Amino acid sequence: DQSPFGGDFAAAGAVPRIQFQDVVKRFGETTVLNNLNFAVGRGERVTLIGPSGSGKTTILRLLMTLEHLTDGYIWVDGDPLTHANQDGKRVELKPKQVARVRKRIGMVFQQFNLFPNMSVVENIIEAPIHVLGHSSDQARQTALSLLERVGLSHRAEAHPSELSGGQQQRVAIARALAMDPEILLLDEVTSALDPELVGDVLAVLKDVAASTDITMLIVTHEMQFAQDVSDRVMMFDAGRVIEEGHPDKIFSDPENERTQKFLQAVL
Ligand code: ADP
Repeated sequence: DQSPFGGDFAAAGAVPRIQFQDVVKRFGETTVLNNLNFAVGRGERVTLIGPSGSGKTTILRLLMTLEHLTDGYIWVDGDPLTHANQDGKRVELKPKQVARVRKRIGMVFQQFNLFPNMSVVENIIEAPIHVLGHSSDQARQTALSLLERVGLSHRAEAHPSELSGGQQQRVAIARALAMDPEILLLDEVTSALDPELVGDVLAVLKDVAASTDITMLIVTHEMQFAQDVSDRVMMFDAGRVIEEGHPDKIFSDPENERTQKFLQAVL
């Protein structure tokens, strides 16, 4: 494995869970991320805030390999996600190498993205069986205990269309957890929900945060939730981190004028 970190550093366990190094992402002429550098530690919960279009979702999609970066490196536990450096050249990773890293990451989307033709439990067992090679019995057992955890044991055989948006989102969370991810990416997971359904979904996520050591990268407009679960908040503007810190500090006493304006508008 290629690692940008020295051996001693790696041996000391100090390799970040996630590292963006000089990441550039362009869509055509539009530069969305311009030399972005940041790291997220193991078990850390980091919330990305900032105006619409500042590149937050793109960061999550790059980690999911739903987008490909234009330049720079992304590392997960010191393993490159898309490219490696060999003899001073950038080398594309083989699909198998990417899949190995990608398997450690789960994502929950704004629009749930459940398979509509499958039952709730089938949605959850699909990837554990086909990607992790779990037996059907084992996958089903895990799925049922996860459904209990998100309060939906009684809907295991329902189809997504029979569920409320909040219930579908809780299934999507269970589906992500069924892969036993080291990293969980949450992309505005309550933005598509009716207001009365938001609380149940956030309660499930708070429980996940409190009862696991999964590293979480969160894009949300729910500032109270961000304050409750985050160790760190990063404020983005035009593809750059313009301010970061503990949520107590960022939300109550931001230093950057653009952060102040943004929070005044959303709080
Ligand atoms: P945020 O999550 O902060 O709202 P995004 O990461 O969604 O920001 O988007 C950042 C910028 O990238 C926006 O200007 C958006 O229009 C642009 N963008 C995102 N995805 C694409 C795409 N597939 N093609 C072209 N432009 C895109």
